[in-house]
Amino acid sequence: MTKDMNADIEKVVFSEEELKKRIAELGKEITEDYKDVKETIYCVGILKGAVVFYTDLVRNINLPVHFDFMIASSYGNGTESSGSVKILKDLDYDVEGKHLIIIEDIIDSGTTMNYLMKYFRERKPKSVKLCSLLSKPSRRTVDVNIDYCGYTVPDEFLVGYGLDYAEKYRNLPYIGVLKPEIYE
Ligand code: 5GP
Ligand code: MG
Ligand code: MG
Repeated sequence: MTKDMNADIEKVVFSEEELKKRIAELGKEITEDYKDVKETIYCVGILKGAVVFYTDLVRNINLPVHFDFMIASSYGNGTESSGSVKILKDLDYDVEGKHLIIIEDIIDSGTTMNYLMKYFRERKPKSVKLCSLLSKPSRRTVDVNIDYCGYTVPDEFLVGYGLDYAEKYRNLPYIGVLKPEIYE
């Protein structure tokens, strides 16, 4: 029995270096798009999956931003969506009239983000944009518009860089695919 998480990984999909490069590009693009905005920009991270991406992305946005976080849960411990979305932690701030950038790890079926985007719009922000590190369009059941997307990925269950399997592997510095025997 080893505690080496690397031993459970079948293949690396995005290396640490590759992620660093892509996230710098996303940060630069966001900085450029928002450089003339007068109102406060709120970066809203969706915990827990987006936390690693969030901390790297915000350090590549060269503008003043406020931090806020939500916890929304649509997945149990497995690899399939339950379809229902629960808000376990709401926004700290009143975001009416503000610019929101929602920061998410992955858009899969789209259920979670479709629900959350409606929820954010009801709070009457001046604008809402979505930045997701990953997107699996082949799995989509509801439409979600991603303004800033790191990578489009095929239908494989990914772990690392915030993404978990049963709460494990979030702290892997890269994104990879688990060996099938781990979840069979
Ligand atoms: P959706 O509501 O779009 O189906 O699911 C969104 C959430 O499902 C993500 O925020 C993430 O927590 C989880 N999820 C979707 N695909 C994957 C994946 O490939 N790996 C992991 N670890 N989680 C995933
Ligand atoms: Mg997520
Ligand atoms: Mg999860």
